[in-house]
Amino acid sequence: MPQPTASFRCFSGCPGTFPLTQAIYRCPTCDSLLEVAHDLDVLRKTSGAEWRALFDARWAPVSNAAGTPPSGVWTKREWVAPEIPDEAIVTTGEGMTPLYPARRLATELGFGELFVKQCGTTHTGSFKDLGMTVLVSVVNHAMRTGALSVRAIACASTGDTSAALAAYGAAAGLPVVVLLPRGMVSVAQLVQPLAHGAKVLALETDFDGCMAVVRELAKRGLVYLANSMNPLRIEGQKTVALEIAQQLAWTVPDWVVIPSGNMGNAAALFAGFTMAKELGLVDRLPRLCIAQAAKANPMYRAFIAGTDEVTPVVAEPTQASAIRIGNPVSAPRAMAALRGMNGVVEEATEAELADACARADRTGLYADPHTGVAIACARKLRDRGVIAASERVVVVSTASALKFTELKLAYHESKLPDVPTPLANVPVPLPPDVDVVVKNLGG
Ligand SMILES: *Cc1c(COP(=O)(O)O)cnc(C)c1O
Ligand SMILES: [Zn+2]
Repeated sequence: MPQPTASFRCFSGCPGTFPLTQAIYRCPTCDSLLEVAHDLDVLRKTSGAEWRALFDARWAPVSNAAGTPPSGVWTKREWVAPEIPDEAIVTTGEGMTPLYPARRLATELGFGELFVKQCGTTHTGSFKDLGMTVLVSVVNHAMRTGALSVRAIACASTGDTSAALAAYGAAAGLPVVVLLPRGMVSVAQLVQPLAHGAKVLALETDFDGCMAVVRELAKRGLVYLANSMNPLRIEGQKTVALEIAQQLAWTVPDWVVIPSGNMGNAAALFAGFTMAKELGLVDRLPRLCIAQAAKANPMYRAFIAGTDEVTPVVAEPTQASAIRIGNPVSAPRAMAALRGMNGVVEEATEAELADACARADRTGLYADPHTGVAIACARKLRDRGVIAASERVVVVSTASALKFTELKLAYHESKLPDVPTPLANVPVPLPPDVDVVVKNLGG
């Protein structure tokens, strides 16, 4: 196989390319976002059938022996970051997550077939690992070869991004700086980066204030920017689309529903399915549903208004805290995804998302609030007939609900404001008396 290559280019089409090892985050000509361009002519020299066979062989239990790291991302390495050598790869065995057949939930909600892609079962408990393994590996390679010299890799974040960056930085032995808004971060959100030894700086500002500071640090060349405007993250995240197709025996579902905030993940799905189609692994694209929390719904508003212009909103507090984003950085990428995948945008209220989580949990899933947003939106589309009963639907679960224990408890103790809790379930205090226990067994 000839060596495939990839480079950065302007998302709006300005001429010119930049090496992936360059610290560049926006087009120097027009200030647009960047994307990673792959040399498809080289990749096309391998047939679709050959790619399928190669990817399947690498997902086998013995793939470790074949010299490819056992990772959902790096088993697809020619499509992701083809020029990164083995010794620079920083992996935790991310990806290769289950496609859970949610049979009881499907029956309850009227779906013919419903799967949940369990991206939260990966190393740090969210899909952010998939992008971070690529970003940290590229930085590692660039530092080793002298192409890049920075004091640290840095991000502004309150949750899953900082957890993933801190873990991969620690795995690589590279310094990580996390900028958090002081006093707005829960213990659960704080503990992962602290445990991994990241420098956690708590600034007297909000998330946007942290973002402004980290962008200035990156501009001065002091840190490498790991927030999702960096398209390296999208390259790793697009393997979710490839895994879904692979797990369905190289077919695509009719719909993919994904909870979205900054919109990088929606863009990644589009990139992955498009590449799989162009290189002959699948014959069509699924339809896309971008699922938003009603408290943070700028894409939904643009979709309903029928415009490509996303007007920023002030995002309100929501249980789905990772998608509390009022001004999504990847909105232009998501608009392209909606066009290319005949997509729709739907929203879920706090009550709807909490109900979706509770119902899903009753069928054996354990849904985090973001997955709850996606399930609630899928349900609304099904109820309106936009999704037909005969269609095959995949909901992308973006995080492990084990990160959201307080929220689960608050539901079951009926302590969430404005959220009805018909499925609340609390412990029954009883004396240690067999007869009393028998009366309380239920069933
Ligand atoms: C980051 C995140 C999202 C949103 O992803 P975007 O790419 O910003 O749209 C959704 N769910 C969880 C759990 C996340 O951590
Ligand atoms: Zn440009």
